[in-house]
Amino acid sequence: MRDDCIFCKIAAGQIPSATLYEDGNFRVILDLGPAARGHALILPKAHYADLSEIDDDTAGKVLPLAKKMVSAMTKALGCAGMNLVQNNGEAAGQTVRHFHMHIIPRYANGPKMVSWEPGELTETDKASIVEAVRAEL
Ligand code: AMP
Ligand code: ZN
Repeated sequence: MRDDCIFCKIAAGQIPSATLYEDGNFRVILDLGPAARGHALILPKAHYADLSEIDDDTAGKVLPLAKKMVSAMTKALGCAGMNLVQNNGEAAGQTVRHFHMHIIPRYANGPKMVSWEPGELTETDKASIVEAVRAEL
């Protein structure tokens, strides 16, 4: 727990939040600046700045919890789909440096929120990226 981290304080219950779910390891809250109705955040109670710091045991619990939340939220909200978004680093849009997973409901005929213009995977990139990443695993 970090005294200077707002998500640590929210996860610990020291700052009130609209809590959808809580267990010993996580709190799931409604985002204060929702991208869509029902936008939620999975917060681990322990502090990890991002995916590079989270331990494998906690990381392994995030996706099953996301699945549980997606199922309940789909029924409760009547959304047509969900985006799971998890930003790592300022360059990726992370504004709160406490690991969190966004669960963003998507509604029929709603705005596209997680999208990009497709580029092109060149033969040069294909070879060099595969070689470089595989060398780091
Ligand atoms: P990210 O850009 O991935 O770091 O996402 C941070 C998210 O946290 C944003 O969607 C904010 O709207 C949300 N947020 C920031 N402060 C709070 C807060 N006190 N309670 C709930 N959500 C928050
Ligand atoms: Zn924290």
